[in-house]
Amino acid sequence: MTALWDSCRREGIADIAERLVEGGRIDDRSALRLFACPDLGAVGALADLVSRRKNGVRGSFLVNRYLNYSNICLLSCRFCAFYRRSGQPGAFLYSVEEMAEQAFQSWRSGAVEVHCVGGLHPHLPFSYYRDLISAIKERCPGMMIKAFTAVEIRHLARRIARRSIPEVLEDLADAGLDSLTGGGAEIFDAEVRDEICRGKETAEEWLEVHRIWHRMGRKSTATMLFGHVEKPAHRVDHLRRLRGLQEETGGFCGFVPFAFEPANTRLSHLRRASATDTLRTIAVSRIYLDNVDHITSYWISSGLPLGQVALSFGADDLHGTIEEEKIFHMAGSKTPISQTADNLAAAIRESGREPVARDSYYRVHPEVRSPRETAGVGA
Ligand code: SF4
Repeated sequence: MTALWDSCRREGIADIAERLVEGGRIDDRSALRLFACPDLGAVGALADLVSRRKNGVRGSFLVNRYLNYSNICLLSCRFCAFYRRSGQPGAFLYSVEEMAEQAFQSWRSGAVEVHCVGGLHPHLPFSYYRDLISAIKERCPGMMIKAFTAVEIRHLARRIARRSIPEVLEDLADAGLDSLTGGGAEIFDAEVRDEICRGKETAEEWLEVHRIWHRMGRKSTATMLFGHVEKPAHRVDHLRRLRGLQEETGGFCGFVPFAFEPANTRLSHLRRASATDTLRTIAVSRIYLDNVDHITSYWISSGLPLGQVALSFGADDLHGTIEEEKIFHMAGSKTPISQTADNLAAAIRESGREPVARDSYYRVHPEVRSPRETAGVGA
C-alpha cells in the first residue's frame, strides 16, 4: 500500500487515490487524468482496490452459448464484418427450430445462458422473434435467455411490429426473455457514431430502450467498443451516460468494455488497441462506474491471457464459455471461439481470485457444469 501511495503521489493522482480509499466517486476530469497517467500499475492497483471492496476475491464466469439467428442486416456499420445483405455469399438465417435445437444441445451439456443476437433483418416477422424466445424457453427449462441489442429492439418496434418499444419488450418478456444484451452501445458520442456506424440508433435511443426494460424490473448489461476513432474523452462521456442511467434505474448488472477488432472491417487501417490501453480502459471503467457491480473482462476480444491479467486491473468476471463466437472472428479475431469452464476457472484461480460460476445476472449459479437429466424434455 505504501508503494501505491508513493506512485500516486509521484504521478499527481494522490487526491484521486484518497477519494477512492474513502469510497468516494470520481468526476470526468479525474477519469481523464487516469487515462493520461503514465503509471498503469498505479491505475490498475486503484481499480483492483475498488473491485475487491465490491466483490472480494470472487472472480466469476458463465457457462453459456452464443447463437446468432441471422447476419442479414439493413445497416452497414463500418466497424462490422458480421453483416451481409440478403442473398449475398455468407448470409445466413436459422429457423426457430434450428436455433432451439442448438440451444437445447448446449442446455443439455450444462449451459445456463443462451446469448442471442443478429443483424437488422428487413423482413423477418415479429412472430419469429417471439417464437424463438418461447421455443428456447420451452426446450431448455431454467436456462436464461439473454437476447437482442437495443438496436434490434428499436428495429422490431419501429419497422417490423410497428408497435411501441414497451409493447415489444413486454411481449418478448412474456415469451421468456430474461435479459437484453449490452451490444450496440459502441461509443455514445454522436460524431464518433457518425463516423463508425452512421444510421444506427443514437445514444439517447440506446439508453431509452434499456431505461424502459429496467423500469419493467428487468436487468441488462452495457458495453463499450473502444480502440477505433474515439478519444479518451469519448470513453469518459460514454461511462458518464451509463453511470447516469444506472443512478436512475439500477438495472445494469455488469459492464463489458471490449476493443475493436479492425482486420476484416472497413476500418482495417486502424491499429488495434494495445494491451495496456485495454487494461487501462478496464481499470478506469471499474473506478468510474461505482454504481455498477461487475466489470467483465471479455476474453473473446483480449484473449484469455490478457483477460486474466485484467482480473488484477479492476475486472471481476471473465464472461463465458461461449461455444461458438462469430462476430469478432468474422472481423479477424485470432482468439479461440470457445473456452471450457475448467479453463476459465483455472485462469481465475491463477489470478488470485476464487472462481464462481454465475448466471446472466451475475448471481452465483450452483448447477454449472452438471450435464442435465434430459428425460422427457426436448429431442
Ligand atoms: S453492427 Fe449490427 S447493425 Fe451494424 S451492420 Fe453489424 S449487424 Fe448490422
